[in-house]
Amino acid sequence: MSPEAIVTQAQQTECAGITYTYTEPTIFMEIAHDTAKIANSKGMFNTFVTNGYMTPEAVDYIAPFLDAASINLKGSANKEFMQRYMDVPKSEPIYNSMVRMKEKGIFIEITNLIIPEIGDHGDDTGTLAEWVVENLGPRTPLHIIAFSPTFKITGLPRTPARMLEKHIKIAKEAGLTFVYSGNIGGHDYENTYCPECGFKAIERYAVYLKKNHLNDQGRCPKCNADLNIQGVRWMGEGTSRLKFF
Ligand SMILES: [Zn+2]
Repeated sequence: MSPEAIVTQAQQTECAGITYTYTEPTIFMEIAHDTAKIANSKGMFNTFVTNGYMTPEAVDYIAPFLDAASINLKGSANKEFMQRYMDVPKSEPIYNSMVRMKEKGIFIEITNLIIPEIGDHGDDTGTLAEWVVENLGPRTPLHIIAFSPTFKITGLPRTPARMLEKHIKIAKEAGLTFVYSGNIGGHDYENTYCPECGFKAIERYAVYLKKNHLNDQGRCPKCNADLNIQGVRWMGEGTSRLKFF
């Protein structure tokens, strides 16, 4: 499909935006860029789900058209784990990308896959969370997600809920406000709780939104606290960036 055809199909199916994912988007950066540029000009949002392993030039290339990015880490970015299981020689470019994206006004969320036995590094979760607090801010959403055996790693068990909860606790103690569980449908940490008054502001089940209680400004309906939720308000043709609710 051409970039034009992708955007046209997204419009025809009334999508508010396009996410570049499943295959790492930097693999097809040129077509992502050209598609995002057209989508942006039509008032749609663009988001990446990425491993974050990119050059500063790549970040700058996509930044004018990229509204948000989910940076996917694994094994709490433990150096030995990344070298052995991901063929990532060094993780510095990923951290540099996140800082540069933040500087460019791209909304960032981070995902961290916890894998039993080989990718269950509590100390590294603490180090990662501290880095996020310091460099991206304490309100940056962090998703601690469960592994399930597939493809080349079939000899390990699914990540148990208590293991995720251990890492969530560590990340919260390091100062992060919004830490979520992932890949365990029905887990309480899928929901967004207001850090000020404790109200359950957004209810989710797995990848589904069950109830959104946010007020018209995208804030807590009970105490009006800002929950750092980015949402799309359809502003019509010619608008570009993600707007608050
Ligand atoms: Zn509240």
